[in-house]
Amino acid sequence: MQNNTMTKKRVSFHTLGCRLNFSETGSIAQGFADRGYEVVEFGNEADVVFLNTCTVTDGADSTCRNLIRKAQGASPEAKIVVAGCYAQMEAEKIKKMQGVDLILGTSEKYKVFEYLDSEEDLAVHIDKSSDFYGAATTTVDSHTRAFLKIQDGCNYVCSFCIIPFARGRSRAISVSDALSEAKRLANNGFKEIILTGVNIGEYEATSGEKLVDLVKSIVDIKEIKRLRLGSVEPNTMTEELVRTLKDSGKYQDHFHIPLQSASNDILKSMRRKYDIAQYKEMQAMVQSYFPQAAFGADVIVGYPGESEEQFLETFNFLRHSPITHFHIFPYSKRKGTTAAKLDDQIQVGVKKDRVKTLMMLGDAKLDEFSQNAVGQTSEVLFESLQDGYWEGYTSHYLRVRVKSDLDLKNEIRNIKLSNFTAGKLYGEFF
Ligand code: SF4
Repeated sequence: MQNNTMTKKRVSFHTLGCRLNFSETGSIAQGFADRGYEVVEFGNEADVVFLNTCTVTDGADSTCRNLIRKAQGASPEAKIVVAGCYAQMEAEKIKKMQGVDLILGTSEKYKVFEYLDSEEDLAVHIDKSSDFYGAATTTVDSHTRAFLKIQDGCNYVCSFCIIPFARGRSRAISVSDALSEAKRLANNGFKEIILTGVNIGEYEATSGEKLVDLVKSIVDIKEIKRLRLGSVEPNTMTEELVRTLKDSGKYQDHFHIPLQSASNDILKSMRRKYDIAQYKEMQAMVQSYFPQAAFGADVIVGYPGESEEQFLETFNFLRHSPITHFHIFPYSKRKGTTAAKLDDQIQVGVKKDRVKTLMMLGDAKLDEFSQNAVGQTSEVLFESLQDGYWEGYTSHYLRVRVKSDLDLKNEIRNIKLSNFTAGKLYGEFF
């Protein structure tokens, strides 16, 4: 007789940092599921705990330590894997932390299955090679939108950023591999794909194909109805790319283009590859193809030496710009970067105030943008039922809720945006 009491092995995950990391965790989780593991929530008892770390700030150390402690508390017998950017940069430090079984760098994390069975008490695998690992895909809390990782690493040297050291030089998936992955996603029912990476504007396959070529082939997949790009560096937002997105008829009306600062002196010190006049020109070019576009941007406040006037330049630029989806970060010193060595680090209190000021501006602008959308019609890809409402995103990346008895999961419907109340946008069928 078969033993029905045999239990599946369990794995839990905790991810820190950027969207790309989340996307990669999704892919690794899929690998565990394919091998018969049950994926349980972090904090529950598990046989393996996988921590996908980030090293963007100096706080990574203590965050990592806390997570390990939490993982051990929840399942004292579990194998604890510390992987990703922090592992890549600080393997020696992690080795000294009690309870860690396996340390895997940014590319080695995909090989976790090979290493799990190792008899070693503490194994460390950090690879400095520049191969492309993991066409990683995952959903955003629903089975409707998928991230497709097309690029990793970065060749830029922005003064505040550790990513080029943690993830290595830029490399990309081939167009044909990306295409087969996108087709697989389409066959699994995904209607929206978000192309992600560290610096996707620099996508270049070894065959020489660029992001425009990749976009052209992906939008040909009939079942993929909507396409988005993750963050695109302003200097890589070329007119050819924007025209291709427009011609595809599938690109959604939202662009995420990092700004970081609107002060030319700060941009120069950051070693960004544009000045504010070029950024504005790029925005105008995008608007000439997508006149109603919503824009999102990352902004760093309190960069070393940022004066009140320079902060106000950023504030005023943002106030008058079409940017409505703000992602504000206080500058955080990261050892090993040029900016960490600069004098004139800004006091924590000042950074906090500046973050708050920009957040308030961002909230007000997003509210106004949502309010102005009332009365318009929009296609929404519905994801999930929340508090009796079906929710999904409009083309402009506004989350909208609609009352309906129908099962709208993964359905694209045209709705009329009917009102914006208490920070929530509502729609109705017409
Ligand atoms: S573009 Fe700059 S900020 Fe972005 S990953 Fe590369 S170095 Fe870091």
